[in-house]
Parts: sequence; C-alpha cells; structure tokens
Amino acid sequence: MASAPRREVLVVGGGIGGLAAALALARRGAWVRVVEQAPAISEVGAGLQITPNGSRVLRALGLSPESVGVRALAVEPRDALTGRPIARFDLRRAGGDYFFVHRADLIDLLRQGAEAAGVPLRTEARVTAITPHGVELDGGEHLSADLVVGADGLHSVVRRHLLGDDRPFFTGQVAWRAIVPVEQGPVARIWMAPGKHVVTYPLKDGRLNVVAVREEAQWAEEGWSHRDSPDALRRAFGDVALNLKAILARVTEVGRWGLFRHPVADRWHDGRTVLLGDAAHPTLPFLAQGANLALEDAWVLAREILRDDLREGLDRYQAERRPRVSDAVGEANANARNYHLKGARRRAAHAGLWTLGFLAPGAFLRRYDWLYRFDVTADG
Ligand SMILES: Cc1cc2nc3c(=O)[nH]c(=O)nc-3n(C[C@H](O)[C@H](O)[C@H](O)COP(=O)(O)OP(=O)(O)OC[C@H]3O[C@@H](n4cnc5c(N)ncnc54)[C@H](O)[C@@H]3O)c2cc1C
Repeated sequence: MASAPRREVLVVGGGIGGLAAALALARRGAWVRVVEQAPAISEVGAGLQITPNGSRVLRALGLSPESVGVRALAVEPRDALTGRPIARFDLRRAGGDYFFVHRADLIDLLRQGAEAAGVPLRTEARVTAITPHGVELDGGEHLSADLVVGADGLHSVVRRHLLGDDRPFFTGQVAWRAIVPVEQGPVARIWMAPGKHVVTYPLKDGRLNVVAVREEAQWAEEGWSHRDSPDALRRAFGDVALNLKAILARVTEVGRWGLFRHPVADRWHDGRTVLLGDAAHPTLPFLAQGANLALEDAWVLAREILRDDLREGLDRYQAERRPRVSDAVGEANANARNYHLKGARRRAAHAGLWTLGFLAPGAFLRRYDWLYRFDVTADG
C-alpha cells in the first residue's frame, strides 16, 4: 500500500477496534503491536450485527465477513404481547452486505488478519498508566511508542488519562444477553412491549442471539461479564406471547448489564495518545453500531496518521469521526424510546410501521442511508 512514515504504534486493547486498527496500520506500513489484558484474544461475548458500513471496512482489510457471519435478509418488528409480526423490511435494500456474527468469530477473523500482517499480539498485558513515552503495564514494565492508541473499550485507561473521569448516567434500562439453541431464519426480530423489548437474530450453527431490554428503576452494573439467573430474565418478560416465551425458556446462561449513556469524548488525542471505538464513544445497543463505528474509526485512523505530520493526521481523524459517531450515538439513544412505547402512542407507532411495511417498505431503510451507505474506505 502507500509508502508511509515509519511509526511505532502501540494499540491498547485487542477487541474489535484495536485489532482492526492494528491490521489497517500494518497494511499501510506502520510498525504496530497490540497489548490485551485478557489471557487470550478471546472467546467472549455474544452476537453483533455487522451493517454495510462495517462490512466495507472488513472487505477493505482483506477479510470476508461471510466466512464468520449469517447474511441478514430482513428486520421484522413484532408485537411482543401477541407474538405477531407488524412489518418486515428487506435488509438487501440496506445498501450493502449485512451480517449477524458472533463476537468471538469476528475477533478471531481480525486476529488472524493481524497476525498474517505480522502484528505481534501480547495477552495478559494490562496497561495501568500512560507515560510520556508509552505505557506502563501491570507489573511495572514500560513499553514505548510514537503513538498509543486507546482501543481499550468502555472503561478505558487511555480515555481517563486524556480526559479524566467520565460521568456516565444510568438510562433506567437493563439488558440481558443470551444464546439459545433455536433455529430462526436470517431475520432480526424486534419484539416490542410497553417498557421493554427483545431482539433475536440467528448466528452460525443453529444458535439464536437474544438481547432483552427492560426499563428498571434499579441500577445495574455496566460491563460485559456480569451474570444473572435465567429465571430472573423469564420473570421480567413473564407477560410476553408464547412464541417469545418458548425462546426465553431455552436460556440456561445469561449476562446482565446496565445501560449507561456516556458523552462522546470532546478531545480524542493529545498528539501522543488517541482514542478509538468505545473508548471514545460508547453507544447504546439500539442501533447496533458499536462494532461498526469502531471498524470505521480504525480505517480512518490508519489512513490519516501515516500521511505526514502525526498531530495533523490526528486532528483530521477527530474532525472526520466525531460528527458521524455523535449522530449515530444520538440515533441509538432515540431508538431506546421508540421500542418501549405505551398505550395510544404504541398503537399509533405499530399502525405506522404496518402502513410503512405495506405501502412503502423501502422508506424504512432509507432513513438509515446516511449510516449504512456511507463508505469510509472510498477515498483510500
Ligand atoms: C468481553 C466483551 C464482550 C462483549 N460482548 C458484546 C456482545 O456480545 N455484543 C455486543 O454488541 N458488544 C459486545 N461487546 C462490545 C463490543 O465489542 C464493542 O462495543 C465494540 O465492538 C467496540 O469495540 P472496541 O474495540 O472499542 O471495544 P471492545 O471490543 O470492548 O474491546 C476493548 C478491549 O480492550 C481490552 N482492554 C481494556 N482495558 C485494557 C487495559 N487496561 N489494558 C489492555 N487491554 C485492555 C479489553 O479486554 C477488550 O479486549 C463486548 C465487549 C467485551 C470487552
């Protein structure tokens, strides 16, 4: 690819954004390595949706999302109380390839790509501090770099170094996540009820990804590894239709986390450290953009910082990315309200969806053209 200034980059975090950034940078000639706190670049998480804007980045990185995902055909809003579909929108009109993927499979695809590009990946390496010339690891070892990329997710050490403590607020919503052995066609179903909803979509090998969200006054911890009992999930959704109950009845293991709103970072870099993905802009799951935005960030960062002056490249990266991710984060916040309507507003919204599905099914997805048809890889 392009001849680039030889820069030493250290990526903190071997998640989706960190591995994609490492691969993108290595392909452009940077000397890049990744440090990950977990004991393995690992098999954690559940389903993710890779929308066309994210698929384009994977392909531009030389990876094929179809090797790990199920190609999505439609999205189907349903009434969770009757179990019946309200409408069906054809995702083949979304403007590109749309997949349902297990996070572990996507991580594996990115890891293999990064390793093939010669990126050293070091596990059990937790960054505890950012220093003037690099980072310090748990245990005291120092690693130096020209640039430290903070791809360290929701509770980012790099973000804290740049911006101090963030003040997220609890949205009053709690989410459960599970995978069950249930066959479902290649469709994302959004089962909506007053004050709660469930999203189900298939993964490879006959698994169904289930995300259930409910409004709750009680605070729940934010994070990906908190467990809950399947019965607590079933009790929370005790009033839903039998076909949805049958899915929840198959849950044997479930994770639970509180949904918090975080501000998009005001400042993404200081010339030596830079934020990417959830570290810069954690987003609620209601637009399925967490992984896709991290992939887009990775591409733009690699393109901009290897051109010329590092600080100018970082400025361009922030200027290009911040408005777009702010729009996506705002849209995800709004969707949370739309899924949980009650009473007359709920009836009116369902009637509106039904009419749209019947009369102008293309119009539903056209609302997302700005998101899905965007090609971050278009100018190199
Ligand atoms: C364990 C886990 C499970 C998840 N499961 C899902 C899921 O099922 N569905 C979904 O939609 N999203 C899930 N996510 C979130 C999703 O991957 C992200 O929202 C999105 O992909 C953005 O990616 P990211 O690279 O910014 O952050 P992440 O993918 O969260 O990656 C951050 C990485 O940084 C590492 N890290 C953090 N702090 C340090 C440190 N101090 N030193 C070294 N390494 C560090 C973490 O271990 C992690 O591997 C999960 C995230 C994690 C970490």
